[in-house]
Amino acid sequence: MSFINLHSFLSKQKSIPGKDDLERIIHEYGKLFAPCITPKFSECSLAEDVKDILHNKFGGIPYCSEAYPHVMCSECGETSYLLCQIDLSTVPPDILPPSIPTRGLLQAFLCCADCGDMGTVRIIPQDTLTHPHVIPSYALDLLEKESEKKGAKDDEAESEAPPSYELQKGPFKCNRVTSWSDTQYMLPYNNIEDAFTYVYGKEVEESIRGDLDLLQEMADAIVPSGDYFGGWSVYIQSTLTECECSTCKSVVMNVVQIESECGVEYGFCDCGRAYVTVCPNHLSELEITWDCD
Ligand SMILES: [Zn+2]
Ligand SMILES: [Zn+2]
Repeated sequence: MSFINLHSFLSKQKSIPGKDDLERIIHEYGKLFAPCITPKFSECSLAEDVKDILHNKFGGIPYCSEAYPHVMCSECGETSYLLCQIDLSTVPPDILPPSIPTRGLLQAFLCCADCGDMGTVRIIPQDTLTHPHVIPSYALDLLEKESEKKGAKDDEAESEAPPSYELQKGPFKCNRVTSWSDTQYMLPYNNIEDAFTYVYGKEVEESIRGDLDLLQEMADAIVPSGDYFGGWSVYIQSTLTECECSTCKSVVMNVVQIESECGVEYGFCDCGRAYVTVCPNHLSELEITWDCD
């Protein structure tokens, strides 16, 4: 982590301690400040999406191949739709947990059939991305409808056909990631004392309780809004240290946090959020869950 970047970032925040205290706090608790980035979006048509299928996006049509077919819901068997797809080589270094490869395609899916599905996440290895992609049948149907609608428009006929993305159940509208924000830093939001014990491997002594209160205030001031990669997960229903690797008991780290109605036009139980997390040591622990208020 760059100390200078962190200092200049924090200096721009509204609710921060005085300058001398700030320098001391960053110096003493630097490991609690985790770098993260937020994506910037631009809406994309279905035809454009399918044409450049490997693009980073929230919603839209996933890259699939014979080796990596479309994901079906493990609970009810219905089609799961893409929440986000990210080419890992495009994510700036040191943002994602160390167990995440620096190349390959990360994909997160969710079933929207009210079956209680927690979602599916996978990484397609870089060397298989050259395989021809398979367009899912629901996307072909939508493309056909889109071109029919276009034909009808060309004839200047009034068409009552619904726009292709407004199906009851169907892929989320594609929002392409056009760029990343500058690196921001965030503090563990839910419980800074637990996080301190975890990060520094020692109990909180009375003498630093004042510092931790200050850090908790800063955590509230610098929590990023919307979807973000890296940083700390901001759980609604659990605390950070309740979410641990089943193998090595390390606290799982945030890969991407997906807010309701942000990059993906979907509400996780109205205003919940989804968390793609992984153990820093075990890629096999890559998983997605979501919770709500
Ligand atoms: Zn399902
Ligand atoms: Zn582990």
